[in-house]
Amino acid sequence: MDVAVVGVGYVGLVTGAGLARVGHKVVCVDVDEGKISNLNKGLISIFEPGLDELVRAGLGEGSLTFSTDLNEAVEASDIIFICVGTPSDENGAADLSFVKEVAKGIARAIDRYKIIVNKSTVPVGTTRLVERIIEENMPHPHEFDVISNPEFLREGSAVEDFLNPDRIVIGTSSQRAIGLMTELYRPIKAPLAITDPASAEMIKYASNAFLATKVSFINAISNICDAVGADVKEVALGMGYDRRIGFEFLKAGPGWGGSCFGKDCRALIKIAEGNGYDFELLKGVIEVNEAQRELIVSKVKKLLGDLKGKRIGALGLSFKPNTDDLRDSPAISILRKLRSKGASIKAYDPAAMENAKDVLGDIEYVSDAYQTAEGSDILILLTEWDEFKWLDFQKIKSLLRKPVVLDARNCLDHSALRKMGFTYEGVGR
Ligand code: NAD
Repeated sequence: MDVAVVGVGYVGLVTGAGLARVGHKVVCVDVDEGKISNLNKGLISIFEPGLDELVRAGLGEGSLTFSTDLNEAVEASDIIFICVGTPSDENGAADLSFVKEVAKGIARAIDRYKIIVNKSTVPVGTTRLVERIIEENMPHPHEFDVISNPEFLREGSAVEDFLNPDRIVIGTSSQRAIGLMTELYRPIKAPLAITDPASAEMIKYASNAFLATKVSFINAISNICDAVGADVKEVALGMGYDRRIGFEFLKAGPGWGGSCFGKDCRALIKIAEGNGYDFELLKGVIEVNEAQRELIVSKVKKLLGDLKGKRIGALGLSFKPNTDDLRDSPAISILRKLRSKGASIKAYDPAAMENAKDVLGDIEYVSDAYQTAEGSDILILLTEWDEFKWLDFQKIKSLLRKPVVLDARNCLDHSALRKMGFTYEGVGR
């Protein structure tokens, strides 16, 4: 099928390259000319396992192209995906200005029946809003359907998630659109959840809010574990065996981050508020998350005392492993807080250091974990990249000024480290 994907960020690029991989002809459109020119040369600006290969394969086979020309892309396509950003506005609601702008652009180029697919995370009612914008801006009347098809991929495993999703949600009442979308996704083996647009839009927000709640819940439990001498990892394991609970998203740490959870929780609170419901539970989830970042800072203070002049070695900057994305990364906000209290920072991240230079500015960036430890008063593990789990801790001990480790992700062997003479501090253990 001929497909256009508008907005070539994490979601758009993976969607475009993924659909090309399963046999469709895809043109990806973005307003960022530099990004498009690089992508046409096979140069990808984001770190995402497997994405380079997928994009290069698509370019090589001619099934994937990149363009800044929205008109041409819409004319050439039967199905057009909207994958632009929906950041928080100043009140915490979803800012739909990019979605609206794209909808207008699509409307001007519609020349026959098309399906417009909202893949961006958008509040309930946006399917109808996009429909209205298209109706109002089409120069000549043509049939079209706007549908909701939220995306659930996770950065760090986005390609795998797109090609092997847990489910595909399609929100529309149009049988014609259901038929074509089923055909589009036929090569991808996953349960199809076909529902109305409002429910599809809610499924995305409810899923992200639930996952954020799970993380905040185990973080709250970890604070009690810290106080009573229980180990939250053991608690989470024991809970996770219960199939009603499961093991996923029960990891205590510095709290959730990334571009989606915070903005989607805030947007859902606003949606609730707009409909007369005070979503107190979700407000609490956000509060617990913010407190968790403060908790890591207070743990550093407990271990080092006054932070003025103290040297901190930080392992990890991205909001989670296998990505270079720093948006709302707990590591970044914790390091900012530590720096504001007078500590100097030395950091290493396998993928996110270039991005960090724009965000964190003038800290010292080094090229491996051992250099991070060298001369530092403490080593803080902030992002659980695999390579940090297998470090030579005898060597780390000899490089640190004091053998102090704060494992903000609970991913190190605390008893082995303590036996080696480290002061080990985790979260809730
Ligand atoms: P992003 O910021 O990485 O990418 C958005 C892209 O849209 C940018 O390249 C930008 O240049 C482009 N853009 C903006 N205005 C445009 C226009 N008028 N025409 C063409 N391109 C335009 O965003 P993202 O992380 O890919 O997220 C996109 C949407 O998907 C959001 O609603 C987000 O909530 C949702 N989502 C994100 C993830 C994730 O893990 N990142 C997962 C699921 C859903």
